Amino acid sequence: MKVGIYTLGCKVNMYESEFVANELKKNGYEIKVFDDICDIYIINTCSVTNTSDNKSKKIIRNAIKRNKDACVVAMGCFIEANQDYKEDGVDIYLGTKDKSKIVELLDEYFKNKENIRDLTKEEQKEFEDMFITTFEGRTRAFIKIQDGCRNFCSFCIIPYVRGACRSKDFNKVIDEVKELTKNGYREIVLTGIHTGNYGVDLKTNFANLLEELVKINDLKRLRISSIEITELNDKVLKILKENDKIANHLHIPLQAGSDKILKSMNRKYDLEYFKNKIKEIRKIRPDISISTDIIVGFPGEAEKDFEETIKTAREIGFSKMHVFPYSVRKGTKAEKMDGHLDNSVKKERARRLIEVSKELEIDYMNNFVGKEVEVLTENAKDGYTLGHTSNFLLVKLNKKLDNDKFVNVKLKKVEYPYILGDIDE
Ligand code: SF4
Repeated sequence: MKVGIYTLGCKVNMYESEFVANELKKNGYEIKVFDDICDIYIINTCSVTNTSDNKSKKIIRNAIKRNKDACVVAMGCFIEANQDYKEDGVDIYLGTKDKSKIVELLDEYFKNKENIRDLTKEEQKEFEDMFITTFEGRTRAFIKIQDGCRNFCSFCIIPYVRGACRSKDFNKVIDEVKELTKNGYREIVLTGIHTGNYGVDLKTNFANLLEELVKINDLKRLRISSIEITELNDKVLKILKENDKIANHLHIPLQAGSDKILKSMNRKYDLEYFKNKIKEIRKIRPDISISTDIIVGFPGEAEKDFEETIKTAREIGFSKMHVFPYSVRKGTKAEKMDGHLDNSVKKERARRLIEVSKELEIDYMNNFVGKEVEVLTENAKDGYTLGHTSNFLLVKLNKKLDNDKFVNVKLKKVEYPYILGDIDE
């Protein structure tokens, strides 16, 4: 049978969809492009913002329309957050748990031809085991090492849909990285819902894992997808200092550049702490790329708080900012707060901060013009190749090269969003 899989949201979702696809292939299913006419459609949904909710529903409806006889599986965070959601044409509803049981669930469905709603209100405590050896269509393989979060930032729905913090078995992570590097993946991206929290349930920690992973010979580059500033402790920084296998890029969500807003977001640090930690990191890696997430238009954010966010972003000198207009999430503390802003104000602030982000990004890119860097080739097109450096610069090479190759490049000029480079023959 032909299966089309559509994944919304984060790298954790992408990893889970990859595992689902591998399991289906192992059981004789054929993975097709989602837009094809398929016998089964699987939509791995996201619920981080209103936009992702609406997009999840739209993609589900598209699948139903594309082939009304198909079996449609709706799974993931949107389904978990909206357990009463019902759509004619959806046959299997799955939350954030049991995605690894997809083959059994399909067998059960095709045997009984009855709708399945595999949803639970119980808090998830077990880490759902998955293991991949390939990552279709990607040069850089993501590995999900952790799930869940207990920080309860007041704007965030994730703790309610992903449950408590739980980690993948330490040795299984090592084995998975070894398998993937053996299969030619030179860069591995460690991901999780709260990546830096790895190991809290296993009497170990993220630093121990990093320490072990950098010993893997075939592994060339290890990237941390995102980490909270509070998890960049001395041991993690020491590993960063001693191992250039760890990519020269950290994505550290700030969320707001004013202490007043950070407090009402229930974030676990203030600006002084954040800035001091960034200084510490830059002492170890002076030209490291530090990108971030920022929510604009949070309830109660006055114009002067927003201006403070701009000032803080410039002061820290982020290499890129992912900007999100505040999105009300049902059931979160922020939903009930006073001072919700008009969408027009949120949109306008997002526009202004994205402009600042582009400026800071180009400033950061210009620091590397004239420098020699190592690029991992990822995407060869007619006459040129794209790839990333360790500090996540997107380099455009004026030659068509094979993928998955590390090449030495001389960087010439910023042509946003690329930085142009010449192969160092
Ligand atoms: S740390 Fe905060 S923003 Fe991140 S997943 Fe947890 S609650 Fe959400």
